[in-house]
Amino acid sequence: MKPIQMVDLKSQYEKIKDSVNAGIQEVIDTTTFIKGGKVNEFQHQLEKYLNVKHVIPVANGTDALQIALMALGLKPGDEVITPTFTFIATAEVVALLGLTPVVVDVDFDTFNISIESLKKAITPRTKAIVPVHLFGQNADMEEILKIAKDHNLDVIEDACQSIGSEYTFSDGRKVQSGCMAEIGCTSFFPSKNLGCFGDGGAIFTNNDELAAKIRAVANHGMVVRYYHDFVGVNSRLDSMQAAVLEVKLQYLDEYIAARQHAAAYYDAKFNGNDKLIIPARNTASTHVFHQYTLKLVDVDRAALQKHLSDKGIPAMVYYPVCLHMQKAYQDPRYKEGDFPVAEQLSACVLSLPMHTELDDEQLEYITAAVLKFVNK
Ligand SMILES: *Cc1c(COP(=O)(O)O)cnc(C)c1O
Repeated sequence: MKPIQMVDLKSQYEKIKDSVNAGIQEVIDTTTFIKGGKVNEFQHQLEKYLNVKHVIPVANGTDALQIALMALGLKPGDEVITPTFTFIATAEVVALLGLTPVVVDVDFDTFNISIESLKKAITPRTKAIVPVHLFGQNADMEEILKIAKDHNLDVIEDACQSIGSEYTFSDGRKVQSGCMAEIGCTSFFPSKNLGCFGDGGAIFTNNDELAAKIRAVANHGMVVRYYHDFVGVNSRLDSMQAAVLEVKLQYLDEYIAARQHAAAYYDAKFNGNDKLIIPARNTASTHVFHQYTLKLVDVDRAALQKHLSDKGIPAMVYYPVCLHMQKAYQDPRYKEGDFPVAEQLSACVLSLPMHTELDDEQLEYITAAVLKFVNK
């Protein structure tokens, strides 16, 4: 059996090695290292894949979120709502810009932002909502967009884990993750569902004016060369990464199917076990399984992790500490117990190996090891 990893980038690369190497070689041969060439090609291919008007490539997913907030012109003191059970980047950029992060609880079943909690958090200072499509499944966007419209709020989707996931609105419209709100952001970090060989990210929008603003913010606040209209940043996807992404985008649907196969295998083995809760599906969204995350019921998580580790099976806790409990984000407004669902999740979640190269032999070995421990 092949060794089991959380993410197996090496085996994935072996299958596309010739095209990836040729793409990188082409960048070197043409010396278009920044902008132009491969970056433009990839941008247009992704626009087509997502059926979105503008893809603006940037240096990473965190930059994408920051640039989105800057382009919307939010000002210090403006409140931005984000779930407390997520990766730190979402709240980090809000804080860096001097905006006020307001955290809310999540839904126990889907791990995504709780609509009830979101409604309660809106104040006259609220300016934007950043829902995170956690683990590869879209948040309840129909409700979120309705609430945003009623209160005149901007919405920025954090689609760093959900590229390729599709959401169906009640009128039957199907829209890709990250393309439902005014702005969407994604990351091409190597382990993400569409990952490059370093850092990368992108911003999506259907709004021409906003796209122009986003491009300018990402390019030193510059519209006409060497004339700076506002304070921007320098954030670019480089051509080598675009060359890798151009190849991998062609396989994204295949990659998603492989992840869904692994998830279905896990589901079939774990469903009905009273110690394990399998990931719930939002009926309006497909799930692209950036992570396959179990909720443990009366199971010693650290002991299970050790049992698996002894058998050569990695398993990770995403995420062990909620935003409102992080040292850097201590805030007199929040204390332990304020977001009971998120806190409960951070104590009971466990993510199993999930990637495009898992075979049934490995899946059988992993599921047998988990079941042996929880059924003992
Ligand atoms: C990965 C990730 C980010 C940040 O992406 P980087 O490219 O690492 O900066 C932001 N939000 C979420 C939910 C992520 O998973």
